[in-house]
Amino acid sequence: MAAKHITVLATGGTIAGRGARGLGRAYVPGQIGIAEMAAEVRALGIDAELSSVDIAAIGSQDIGWTEWDRLYGYIKAALNDPGVDGIIVTHGTDSAEETALLLDLTLPADTPLVLVGAMRPADAVGSDGMRNFANAVRTASDPAAGGRGVMVVMGDQVFAASDVRKAATSHIDAFRGFPRGPIANVTPASLDWFGPPPRTGEGARFDWPQTLPQVDVLMAYAGMSPCTVDALLQCGATGLVLAGMGAGNAPGPVLDALADAVRGGVPVVRASRVDQGYVDRNLEVDDDARGFVAARSYGPAKARILLQLLIASGITDPLAMQVHFDRR
Ligand code: ASP
Repeated sequence: MAAKHITVLATGGTIAGRGARGLGRAYVPGQIGIAEMAAEVRALGIDAELSSVDIAAIGSQDIGWTEWDRLYGYIKAALNDPGVDGIIVTHGTDSAEETALLLDLTLPADTPLVLVGAMRPADAVGSDGMRNFANAVRTASDPAAGGRGVMVVMGDQVFAASDVRKAATSHIDAFRGFPRGPIANVTPASLDWFGPPPRTGEGARFDWPQTLPQVDVLMAYAGMSPCTVDALLQCGATGLVLAGMGAGNAPGPVLDALADAVRGGVPVVRASRVDQGYVDRNLEVDDDARGFVAARSYGPAKARILLQLLIASGITDPLAMQVHFDRR
């Protein structure tokens, strides 16, 4: 079989980080150019043709609309190139779930597109970057990779963008999926999918927006004051995501302030600050009466991306928005 052609778009992150000097911990993300990393993986004898572009060289905590818009432009160009079989985006792990979901919701599901990062910088002892990268090449080159939407490859596992989240700050198996766990196991020499592609032929769910509106996240806690809601509205929030307690709860006065925000034309999505689980409609909170949307399986970071796309698309009716959260 002819070697697959993979476009690698680099954004930085720990996978390109340097400075840990073996046993040290402090380092700077985004120090190694993608050409160097691609040369290293090629030297391992990987069976794929890689062409690479540095889009950015940042920690993913600094990623935002400028980098996303640039990245999307390069992805579209790669998609329009009949010689490209798959795309890899190297990315910091902190916000990988946000970039992955944004791309998943705005690209056709048939594109084999894989985000990959690392928990340890390239020069740390036991660095996971090159293995994750080799695993990403393996995944993006696989004939059965299409029809699964955007994927994240970390720790010898493949996750779907809609499920994945970073669940640990420093372990190399830091990523988890909810409600589905991994959709495949991968090593540089093997790839085992757990089922057929579920989204073959599915088009992009949203157009790429002109820009993304300001949506802010507020976390609930015991004794929380409703002033936080007012402060965010004064800062220009056009949508709010509540990282609520438990199944999306918050003190009564905060819920009242959020309902006022909805009445003022600012959509509110209730998610949870708990690591995983569903936030369903109308349990302890009367979403129907207050005009809220329930985030279902999405955590706050993912719920924010979907709310931004909904507002950018002019979809702000709570029940119309709810359909998109229910669909995943
Ligand atoms: N702060 C880094 C980043 O997200 C962490 C990492 O890549 O693992 O870019």
